[in-house]
Amino acid sequence: MLRNMFDTGTWETICKQCGRCCFEKIEDEDGTIFHTSVPCRYLDVVTRDCNIYERRFQINPECIKLTEELVRELRWLHDGCGYRQALGLTNKREKKGSKF
Ligand code: SF4
Repeated sequence: MLRNMFDTGTWETICKQCGRCCFEKIEDEDGTIFHTSVPCRYLDVVTRDCNIYERRFQINPECIKLTEELVRELRWLHDGCGYRQALGLTNKREKKGSKF
């Protein structure tokens, strides 16, 4: 089912637009990830809309295009993320190493 969503171009509709992935994160020397309250400069913190969404990859080289593979790899996406939920990854990460 998820593959069909990806193939038909509806992958991005899985995003809940919560904007939580658009805040800076810090990883310490032990690999523990800390989430900060510092938003991406292009995030509207009230509406949680990206102000440059259509051109985000051209304007902000730090913006990451989430793929199914990346969603499975990234340790800093929270369990409420629509992509993690769609892939059945909720509550399937190690508790150690993430402060979120
Ligand atoms: S955390 Fe997940 S659901 Fe929320 S904005 Fe980011 S990609 Fe979308």
